[in-house]
Amino acid sequence: MSFDIIKGLATTLRNMGKKPTTISYPEQERELPARFRGRHVLHRYENGLERCVGCYLCAGACPADAIYIEAEENTEEQRVSPGERYAKVFDVNLLRCIFCGYCQAACPTGAITLEHDYKLASYYPEDMVYHKEQLLEPRGQATVGSNTVWTDPVPPEAAQPVPQERHVFDGTQASAAAVGLGDLPTEEPVLLVDEEQDEDRRKFERGKEKKNV
Ligand code: SF4
Ligand code: SF4
Repeated sequence: MSFDIIKGLATTLRNMGKKPTTISYPEQERELPARFRGRHVLHRYENGLERCVGCYLCAGACPADAIYIEAEENTEEQRVSPGERYAKVFDVNLLRCIFCGYCQAACPTGAITLEHDYKLASYYPEDMVYHKEQLLEPRGQATVGSNTVWTDPVPPEAAQPVPQERHVFDGTQASAAAVGLGDLPTEEPVLLVDEEQDEDRRKFERGKEKKNV
């Protein structure tokens, strides 16, 4: 018996009494860390509006070019999100995705997060392109997903980067004002007044009036 075989048997004997490190998936599943990045979820506000405002920032941040968006204008008759636009088409190609989370970090409204769903295998590559209908929370559900475990709570004395109902932007409840369609009064006047420019404009307007007379 060569020395190598004795070494191999010794290794086997040494490990025989140890608890296995593997589990019997799928009967057993591991508990995932809070910051585990699995499949994307698109979130809604509590009033049912979609958080995504079709700004393309996530697609721009994606290093794998895995996100495809087609944005459409909201109208008063058909308001889908609080912003000017919403994502009519929102696809994530999970064959390209490297689950880096840059899209989540780039999103200004907390609309997209990576959650704990990792059971993504498929026989067909086309099944791995997840569409908005599959990614969006169902009506009646409004969660903020893993943003809470990624983002430290904002200290109460911190300056508020966007106007928002609770005056602290923690991502849990952004208002329409946060995405450019303000419905809440801001603390500062929105438009800066340039006295000189206003004076010039008035002169110009007066000049026009004279010409029209
Ligand atoms: S997790 Fe990374 S690779 Fe995947 S879609 Fe988001 S930004 Fe792109
Ligand atoms: S998910 Fe966020 S970053 Fe991406 S388009 Fe929608 S609002 Fe913009």
